[in-house]
Amino acid sequence: MGEVTRQVTLEGSQTGFATTRLDALLGWARKYSLFQYPFVTACCGMEFMALASPRFDMARFGAEAPRFSPRQADLLWVVGTISQRQAPVLRRIYEQMMEPKWVLAFGTCASSGGFYDNYTTVAGIDKIIPTDVYVPGCPPRPEAVIDGLLLLQDKIATGDRTPGIVKPREDPASIGNVNGLVQLQKKKAAKGDRP
Ligand code: SF4
Repeated sequence: MGEVTRQVTLEGSQTGFATTRLDALLGWARKYSLFQYPFVTACCGMEFMALASPRFDMARFGAEAPRFSPRQADLLWVVGTISQRQAPVLRRIYEQMMEPKWVLAFGTCASSGGFYDNYTTVAGIDKIIPTDVYVPGCPPRPEAVIDGLLLLQDKIATGDRTPGIVKPREDPASIGNVNGLVQLQKKKAAKGDRP
């Protein structure tokens, strides 16, 4: 009997080495291990529940585990309208969170006060706490919030603390124009006009 040998091919770090900077490594690790504190006050909470469901699967982004103590959280989701009476509570929760910490404004009310243009409503949470990402929409679609989460992850990875706004996936104005153009062409075709 001949001797049986087994060749093993080593892959990844076992065959070489990788270099990085410590802050880049920490940014990479932090962006996939977000512990969220949901501060839910109003109707945007319905979409927040949809977002937390298996269909949208926030676990893909390492952000599915809520923490109901701010001391265990590093991502504050502000979901819904904030009244003047709630403002000190929100500020206190933010101050109790550990560093580094990030804030996402979920929906138009949290971002700017929405259509509540009155003395009881805070015109955007950035009047109270620093905000990293704004997700417009009344309420925003879960896909838009996921875009906001991805935007935040990019900022965490690069250490970028400038605020970011989630853009619509499709420009509503251009969709309107395209639909209008198509309808106009159909009308002209029905009348026998040249397009
Ligand atoms: S943005 Fe719209 S859905 Fe969200 S809390 Fe305000 S009114 Fe409700």
